Amino acid sequence: MTPAVETKQPFFIGGDWVETGRTYSICLPYDGSQVAEVQQADAAAVDRAIEAARRAAPAMAAMSNADRSELLFRLHAFVARDGVEFANLIALETGKPIKEARFEVERALQTLLESALAARELHGEVIPMNAAPGAQDRMAITVREPVGVIAAITPFNVPFNLAMHKVGPALGSGNTVVHKPAAQTPLSALRFARAAHEAGLPAGAYNVVTGPGSEIGARLVEDPRVAMITFTGSVPTGKWIRASAGLKKVTLELGGNSALILEPDADLDLAVARAVTGAFMHSGQLCISVQRIFVHESIAAQFTGRFVEAARRLRIGHPLEETTDISSLISDQAAGRVKEWIDQAVRDGGRLLTGGGRKGNTIEPAIIADLPPGTPLSCQEAFGPVVAVDLYRDLDQAIDRANGTPFGLQSGIFTRDMQRAFEAARRLRVGGVLINDVPTFRADHMPYGGVKESGIGREGPRYAMEEMTDSKLICWRV
Ligand code: NAD
Repeated sequence: MTPAVETKQPFFIGGDWVETGRTYSICLPYDGSQVAEVQQADAAAVDRAIEAARRAAPAMAAMSNADRSELLFRLHAFVARDGVEFANLIALETGKPIKEARFEVERALQTLLESALAARELHGEVIPMNAAPGAQDRMAITVREPVGVIAAITPFNVPFNLAMHKVGPALGSGNTVVHKPAAQTPLSALRFARAAHEAGLPAGAYNVVTGPGSEIGARLVEDPRVAMITFTGSVPTGKWIRASAGLKKVTLELGGNSALILEPDADLDLAVARAVTGAFMHSGQLCISVQRIFVHESIAAQFTGRFVEAARRLRIGHPLEETTDISSLISDQAAGRVKEWIDQAVRDGGRLLTGGGRKGNTIEPAIIADLPPGTPLSCQEAFGPVVAVDLYRDLDQAIDRANGTPFGLQSGIFTRDMQRAFEAARRLRVGGVLINDVPTFRADHMPYGGVKESGIGREGPRYAMEEMTDSKLICWRV
């Protein structure tokens, strides 16, 4: 049932398709069947990719806002034309259900569109020089200049849209890119290189090299020709990158264990439906997956009963089946770790309300009540289909517990009382608060990113372009 993709796929450097002769297999995480074989980059290939990007940088920097925007509209059109193919590749490389893969393609298209629009609008500002004593006879403006070569390092879980969140703004603001997708999920990136070629992107503006992060990624991080690293992935890799990048610009979109608070007046129909999506979409392998639910004691029994029922209705199956809601985790190792965390939570006294079984790399959606503090599930990132439900008596307590982790990506609160909602929004230590929604919601143009160990910097094309350009002041005496 698993269709094979082209074999020995080359990567893309300086507008050419490049092979090293060394290949590795890409397998469907659901059943381990091989779906493709791709070339593995070596040190020489990474060097060539960086050099191609460096050479292309002046031409990209010299393009007008209008021309870069036009380029992104063309890219958008080519990806839209082949959207079905992109969705299939995403489902095969990640093992996510096909309906979620289609959604990812829609989101990636939106990201490209927003990048095309933001490229037109990129501008500096007028500085009111007459605000300072002695500077009244001067005027000043700032202009935004591209940083040059950007290394984009992306994770396995949302391989295409998260890549577009880096590539779209980087090209739109006049930079060139060397992209390193996660070793397990390079297929959508390689397919995107074809779209870039067809769209007439200048040679060297987008390059993609595939292979293990420790070899390929590390070379990108350390090379002095790279001006900026835009990274999405785990906290340990992010910390290593920050420590190794020297004076390069770095943005880090890292992990989370998002909290959802349900107040007594929450719209329960909506909260249950959104919590199921938020906790179990892509088997919980989303940085803003709902991992911790704090529900007011007055509605806890009602909410939990309905939430468990809804989780049990999710259909487990092959990622390419239209009806599948839950497929598999990315690897045997990931499934083993999540299963062990669930078992440990139960050994420590947590009550497993549903799910938690493992078959191959698939974990049944699990809901755990009375989770003891200090278990990995309560404070680390699960990155699996498991959610803890805990009761609280007053909102202060819920906010303190929501804040009581090293992470701070997004949080959600359901209440009809806007006063309380805004009080919570003010006190939650996160990059974004969603009122009457789960923290898993993201629209691609909104500013997105974390505080604490969840990262540094913001994405969303307009905000990413700010990060990917330097401000230059031009001041003149009048
Ligand atoms: P990961 O850190 O293992 O890998 C991410 C990327 O870094 C991959 O391309 C990998 O090959 C590369 N890499 C690994 N070691 C490297 C090194 N030494 N130098 C340079 N690159 C290296 O993460 P993952 O398992 O692919 O993704 C899951 C993580 O990503 C989770 O923690 C999740 O929360 C996080 N994530 C965050 C966001 C966000 O927007 N904040 C979005 C999606 C995923």
